[in-house]
Amino acid sequence: MTTVKKARKYKPLLSLDFDGVLHWYRNGWKGARYIDDEPVPGAVEFVREASQYFRIVVYSSRSSQPGGIEAMQAWMEKYGFPEVKFANDKPKAFLTIDDRAIQFNGTWFDPQELLKFKPWNKPADEED
Ligand SMILES: [Mg+2]
Repeated sequence: MTTVKKARKYKPLLSLDFDGVLHWYRNGWKGARYIDDEPVPGAVEFVREASQYFRIVVYSSRSSQPGGIEAMQAWMEKYGFPEVKFANDKPKAFLTIDDRAIQFNGTWFDPQELLKFKPWNKPADEED
């Protein structure tokens, strides 16, 4: 028996954050147009593979700032990412990947516990 993977006609929207997800972002914020780190290891390959199953959109706090989208676009081109879309407003996504988010599952959080959150790429003792 031959298994043929049917190509989906409709690809759901996958929204990707930029800093801390695509851009390694080890040097912190220096302005919407200033992007000075490398891609997170595996990011290019992930976006390439995910593009087969999803429409990819990049949405960042840079998106609404002058030159932000152009800077992200140029940076992604430089590092060989496949072509993606950029959203100006929060996209109506099937799923979002963000380094500073937590999945809400119907049970509310303890706000004081939320204060302990640390992004994956920041040392535990570093303030940001
Ligand atoms: Mg981020």
